[in-house]
Amino acid sequence: MDLQNTSYRGRFAPSPTGPLHFGSLVAAVGSYLDARSHQGEWYVRMEDLDPPRVAAGAADDILRTLEAFGLHWDGQVMFQSWRGEAYRAALETLRQLDLLYPCNCSRREIADSALETSTGLVYQGQCRSGMQAGRVRHALRLKTDNTLVFFSDRLLGEYGQRLETEVGDFVLLRADGLYAYQLAVVVDDAEQGMSHIVRGADILDSTPRQIYLQRLLNLPTPSYLHLPVAVNDRGEKLSKQTLATALDIAKPLPQLLNVLDYLGQEPPPDLAGTTLEDFWSWAITNWAVHKIPPQRALPADRP
Ligand code: GLU
Repeated sequence: MDLQNTSYRGRFAPSPTGPLHFGSLVAAVGSYLDARSHQGEWYVRMEDLDPPRVAAGAADDILRTLEAFGLHWDGQVMFQSWRGEAYRAALETLRQLDLLYPCNCSRREIADSALETSTGLVYQGQCRSGMQAGRVRHALRLKTDNTLVFFSDRLLGEYGQRLETEVGDFVLLRADGLYAYQLAVVVDDAEQGMSHIVRGADILDSTPRQIYLQRLLNLPTPSYLHLPVAVNDRGEKLSKQTLATALDIAKPLPQLLNVLDYLGQEPPPDLAGTTLEDFWSWAITNWAVHKIPPQRALPADRP
């Protein structure tokens, strides 16, 4: 695909649950380089939808870290916590299409009756024909069907799911009143006019759900590139839960070079002695998607 002549807008969308680590830097650098090497714009969006998981000060800390690493974004930073009205309007559109239903199954009931597939537990649609009496709190689920939802990832190739069988009807509004990531990400990528999404392959499984929602809401589907997810020596994704080390803002260059190595970009050894500006200039000019290992997960200590 020739991307040179299309207008490119990309983003990095961290959840401000803690400081950035090597795994988040891979997604930030990959999305930034892909955008800048196509003369594109690059935005930052804070996915702070889930207040109990948001850490105080984490959003500011993430922005300061991006600046210290020379990852300069365009425009205003969007915060999902401001966007409730847009998510509510999208739910209303789906309700009018008769595609939403309330569900008051407990976690336990779902787990007991669900079928397990490679994408997790598949809800069997028990509440499609009505909820159980006596419980007030309920989530809103989206009806799925078995059409193949299919896309071609720029790195990992063709990927498709039959949502009803492989994922099940999924939650868009949680029983605690919070909007689900799948809804918010689709509404916001469209609102911000994102043309190209570059993010970790831990979200590859979610992409067919997002494309399905885009089609129902009459929104465009961007192009997708899922980067290998950095895992520790136990094969776990680096995250706050797996105690990933925070980035050191005093020493951006060696950490950026590790990311380029990790993404197979083969930076020349003498780049280690240069400035951040020279680093970015080399990295943007030489960004090569075909050199990225086409894998869903890779150990963080590679090579
Ligand atoms: N907020 C998600 C995360 O931090 C990323 C979502 C996305 O890029 O679509 O893992």
